Amino acid sequence: AAKQGGKNRYHLFDAEHDRGLRSRHAELGQIALALQQQQFVLHYQPKVNMRSGAVIGAEALIRWQHPQRGLLGPGAFLPALEQQTLMVDVGDWVLEQALQQIAHWNRTGLRLPVSVNIDAMQLAQADFVPKLRAALARQPEVQPSQLELEVLETSALGDLGAVSALLHQCRELGVLTSLDDFGTGYSSLTYLKHLPTQVLKIDQSFVRGMLDDPSDSAILQGVLGLAQALGRLVIAEGVETSAHAQMLLRLGCVHGQGYAIARPMPAEQIPDWVAHWKPDPAWAAAPSPAPS
Ligand code: C2E
Ligand code: MG
Ligand code: MG
Ligand code: MG
Repeated sequence: AAKQGGKNRYHLFDAEHDRGLRSRHAELGQIALALQQQQFVLHYQPKVNMRSGAVIGAEALIRWQHPQRGLLGPGAFLPALEQQTLMVDVGDWVLEQALQQIAHWNRTGLRLPVSVNIDAMQLAQADFVPKLRAALARQPEVQPSQLELEVLETSALGDLGAVSALLHQCRELGVLTSLDDFGTGYSSLTYLKHLPTQVLKIDQSFVRGMLDDPSDSAILQGVLGLAQALGRLVIAEGVETSAHAQMLLRLGCVHGQGYAIARPMPAEQIPDWVAHWKPDPAWAAAPSPAPS
């Protein structure tokens, strides 16, 4: 009887597995259709100097304007694209769209650097750099340095040497690169050493933990010192409250991105936001760190 039960269980899991595959297949079909029907849209979240008030750029973040379910964040559909070539098509669309947006802003007199998130799947394509070069050539009024590619540390898990070479090639094109969610990988210092990115985006978890966990603020200070010694720019992600902004300024981290500054917003709202934003005076009231 026990054996038979085991056999039934096996069949049960097999059926579930099959259903899982079919629903995943259907989901991918819907995403492909959404791409074709232009249901994706990029929202932009400003990155600023929290002390001077300078707006240093904006990050493009994908959303799906779903006809039934409303506006969906990337967490609702990007996981289905993991390891799928459709991820590359979505990534191509994001890059093209962001470059068009930069060109449009340039024509209106707003020269804003824009970063896009690049998935590991995209980096693994042999034609990544040629496609990037071609995309830039289609927008001659965009300076390559206005484009920044955000890469996750974990993208280099497979082949650190290959990803490092790739980032060097992007650099030669004049495009900036950054390490996104810095500090969450298995060997962040190895990535830091071998990946030639100009920018480190400190993961939100450290910023969140910094207010009550002394080890998080110590890590943050350490990363700031390391970044300075290596000539990298640091941006703190997830600056969610005034307390975060104040603490970061106190630690000497002036660049930030987060809800306390601005939420991601439709492109149309960016020019007005850039024209009017000022840092909260309470943030700057935090004393500057002693010069070292
Ligand atoms: P990420 O690149 O680390 O982007 C930052 C995420 O944190 C965004 O979530 C942003 O809305 C959110 N965020 C910003 N400030 C705050 C804050 O103060 N508090 C909190 N709690 N969250 C904040 P979003 O838009 O849901 O994107 C999530 C992730 O999806 C991104 O993380 C990125 O890894 C990925 N992603 C987004 N757009 C794209 C894309 O076009 N291509 C690829 N490959 N990945 C993308
Ligand atoms: Mg990012
Ligand atoms: Mg991040
Ligand atoms: Mg993230």
